[in-house]
Amino acid sequence: MILVTGGAGYIGSHVVLALQRAGFEALVLDNLVYGHAEFVPADKLIHGELEDREKLKQLFADHPIEAVIHMAAYAYVGESVTKPAIYYRNNIYGTLCLLEAMVEAGVGKIVFSSTCATYGEPDQIPIPESHPQRPINPYGFTKLVVEQMLRDFDRAYGLRSVVFRYFNAAGAEPDGQIGEDHNPETHLIPLVLDVAIGRRPHITVFGDDYATVDGTCVRDYIHVSDLADAHVLGLKYLRTGGETTFFNLGNGNGFSVQQVIDAARQITGKPIAQVLGARRPGDPAQLVGGADRARQVLGWSPRFADIETIIATAWRWHQSRFGKD
Ligand code: UDP
Repeated sequence: MILVTGGAGYIGSHVVLALQRAGFEALVLDNLVYGHAEFVPADKLIHGELEDREKLKQLFADHPIEAVIHMAAYAYVGESVTKPAIYYRNNIYGTLCLLEAMVEAGVGKIVFSSTCATYGEPDQIPIPESHPQRPINPYGFTKLVVEQMLRDFDRAYGLRSVVFRYFNAAGAEPDGQIGEDHNPETHLIPLVLDVAIGRRPHITVFGDDYATVDGTCVRDYIHVSDLADAHVLGLKYLRTGGETTFFNLGNGNGFSVQQVIDAARQITGKPIAQVLGARRPGDPAQLVGGADRARQVLGWSPRFADIETIIATAWRWHQSRFGKD
C-alpha cells in the first residue's frame, strides 16, 4: 500500500488514479485545506495534518504502507511571501513529522514533490538538474530544505528518495472526474479558461517587457497525467533498489503567456479578452526544464506533450466542472 499525502489535491488525485491503474493500492492523507474530498475514493481518504504525530504513528501502525508519495504542501508563491510561517510549518515541519514517523515505522521509500522554483532565476535554459538552486521566494526555499532533509535522512537512516522538480503542471485526466480547481485560482491556464467560459471578464497578462520571444513570460507546461505517471515510475525505481536521486519533470518546450492565450482561443473558439498588467513580483522571465534524465533513468515518456492537447484536456474538465455556473 502506498500513502499519498496531499492526494486530494490537483496533482495528488491524478497520482492516486495513476497508482490504481498500475495496480497499487493508495491511501490518502490530506488536510483538505486546498484538496477536494470528492477527488478520491471515500474509503481511501484519511483527513488529517502531518503535524499530528499521534495520527501518523497510528496510520503507519494500522496499514501495511511500503512507501510514501509526499505531495502535501502549500504551494502559492505569493502567499509564501506574505505568510511564510504557514509555509515553514506545513512544508518543512510537517515533512519532518512525516519522515520521523516513516523512520520509526521502518518505511524506507519516499517520492517527493519538489519544484523548479528551487532554481530561482536560471543561468541557462533548459535548466539541467545540476543547476545551482537559489530560490527567490519562501515556497521554493521550503522545498529546497526538504530536498536537503531527504539527502540527510538517507545518509543517516537509509530512507531512499526520488525528488521530482515539477515545472508547470496543467491539463486534466481525459477519462477522469478530476482536474484543476484551486481556490483562489492563480494559475494561467484555468484563469484563461475562466474567461472563455464567462466566469471572469478578462485575463491580465503580467508584463510584456521580458526578454522573451514576445515579451511575456515563458514556462514549461507539463500534463498532470504525465507527471502522475512519472511518480509511479519513481516508485518502481525505488522498489527495484534505485538510490536516492532527483529529476526535473517538464517537456523542454517553453510557451509564452501570449502563446498560451492564443492557443486557448483556438481550442475554445472563444475570443478571451486580455489586458496588460504589471509584472508579478518573483516571476522569472523563463523557466524551461526538460526531463531527459527522467526519460533515460525511469523510461518516462509523456503522453500529452503538446500545449494544444494540454489545454484541450483542461478545457474539457473546465466545462464539466464550471459550465453550469
Ligand atoms: N500569469 C499571467 N496572468 C495571470 C496568471 C499568470 O500573466 O493571471 C503568468 C505568470 O506571470 C507566469 C505564467 O503566467 O509567467 C504562469 O503562471 P502560473 O501562476 O500559472 O504558474 P507559475 O509559473 O507561477 O508556477
